[in-house]
Amino acid sequence: MTGLRLYNTLSHRVEPLAPLAPPRVTMYMCGPTVWSYAHVGNFRTFLFGDVLRRYLAHAGYDVFVVMNLTDVDDRIIKAAATAGVSVREFTARFTAAFFEDRDFLRIRPADVYTRATEYIEPMIALVEQLLARGLAYRGDDGSVYYAVGSFPTYGRLSRLDARELKTGARVASDEYAKEDAQDFALWKAASPTDEAVGAAWEAPFGRGRPGWHLECSAMALTELRRRFGVATLDIHAGGVDLIFPHHENEIAQSEGATGQPFARCWLHGEFLTMAGTKMSKRFGNTLTVRDLREEQVDPAAFRMVVLSTHYRQQLSYSDEALAAAVEGVRRLGEFRRRLAGAASGAGHPPPAAAELDGGFRAAMDNDLGTPQALAAVFTFVRQANRALDAGAWTPEAAGAALRVFDAVLDVLDVLPADRAPDAELAAWVARRLEERQIARKAGDFARADAIRDELAARGIELEDAPDGTRWRRRG
Ligand code: AMP
Ligand code: ZN
Repeated sequence: MTGLRLYNTLSHRVEPLAPLAPPRVTMYMCGPTVWSYAHVGNFRTFLFGDVLRRYLAHAGYDVFVVMNLTDVDDRIIKAAATAGVSVREFTARFTAAFFEDRDFLRIRPADVYTRATEYIEPMIALVEQLLARGLAYRGDDGSVYYAVGSFPTYGRLSRLDARELKTGARVASDEYAKEDAQDFALWKAASPTDEAVGAAWEAPFGRGRPGWHLECSAMALTELRRRFGVATLDIHAGGVDLIFPHHENEIAQSEGATGQPFARCWLHGEFLTMAGTKMSKRFGNTLTVRDLREEQVDPAAFRMVVLSTHYRQQLSYSDEALAAAVEGVRRLGEFRRRLAGAASGAGHPPPAAAELDGGFRAAMDNDLGTPQALAAVFTFVRQANRALDAGAWTPEAAGAALRVFDAVLDVLDVLPADRAPDAELAAWVARRLEERQIARKAGDFARADAIRDELAARGIELEDAPDGTRWRRRG
């Protein structure tokens, strides 16, 4: 199949992917909390999942992807109460927006999206199991807590020692009914606010609502059992901020109940940052996919920005990075048109195409090395252009090369959008902005102003911000 090797957070090593029942690979990715528009940082993580599942399929695996939609949690309840609507009503809008944004960025849909509020029954069953096994207890406040001290391997994923775990938990904790500071809520007793927004359910251990960590365990296990009769995921993925406590708690809940490993491989994507700070609603530095769309950014360019950095490195997002990607994407589109024009039928692939195929696989097999995979693509473009200039390829050789190119691009998906006029405009503006930036750096302000006027003449307005220049179309 493939020699795909991935960095497993659990073992702290890059190791061969070893699914439970190949060619099937089951993958669960923690999805969005649908309380507002997801930002491009969230989408960096989802895009990492997209490329991983595409590459697995490319390599011959049968991939099954589950993503949850957290549609009940503290933030949602608070926001719904403020808006005076039910959680269901409140989240519907942001769920729809999430799917729209996903499609815009050409992220392939998961096989199932599990909404937390539709899995209350299995969540209750999981809590009962944990209570029966002595791993959970009912607090004085009517909530049910996980007794972390009773799960011997707690902390293995995040490698925090017991002291660090306690300190971390105490800082995060505002619940005093727990026996131990590091214990976490599986089920939260219903408050009047919960009732008001329709976020309370009957359960044998008291009326209430699920904790966030419980949601993922119950949804993943339900889907695994229902479809494949197993309790172990091949891959569990999310952003690095989820390692502790979220994924640590998911393991404690799932393994505490089933006695079986919850996931064979844990993958974590690093943050997207802007001007050195993690993108987060909390820091007020978010950019949404809506913003990208308004600014007529080609989704392929955004994908290229993301794939240009390895998923385990922080990605520093900037207008300059985007402008470079816009140019890269434009070149790829132009090249594909040229290659398609020269191709007819498919013969034996020329050496450059075989090299692309090998280079791409080698890069991706090495812990999903998308920057190297892109480098292999651009090397191929240069070689192919030279061969075409020299008339060195028969139409059949070009046809074979086109097939290899398309198979690679089917994984990366960084060809320009079909909406050619918009994409061209975006590329043109990006080149102008780059020139203007160079002029400004060189102190040539007359030139910089002239470029601004040139853009204005085509209805493009600029807005200079500390983190770069943004543009939008007037009217
Ligand atoms: P949330 O909607 O907050 O549950 O987050 C959804 C996903 O986005 C999780 O996998 C997070 O780890 C991830 N995430 C949050 N902020 C960032 C960021 N700045 N860069 C990359 N991923 C992020
Ligand atoms: Zn989760």
